[in-house]
Amino acid sequence: MAIPNVKRYRPFCPVCNDNFTLMAVLPNQANADAYLADAVARHDHKAFSDAKAAMSKVRVGQQKQVKKK
Ligand SMILES: [Zn+2]
Repeated sequence: MAIPNVKRYRPFCPVCNDNFTLMAVLPNQANADAYLADAVARHDHKAFSDAKAAMSKVRVGQQKQVKKK
């Protein structure tokens, strides 16, 4: 089921001060560095920080469930 040529990138966003995951299919001749620089420039920092907050909430919930056992 894997999509061929799809690559996972972990560019660093200086605004969020964190790496974010990016799935992209780039043509062979594409400049990955330029693509990643553009992706960071267009990064949705608000959505990213919201997603991070939501993820940590899920983790806290899972830890509580483990403690119940
Ligand atoms: Zn960002």
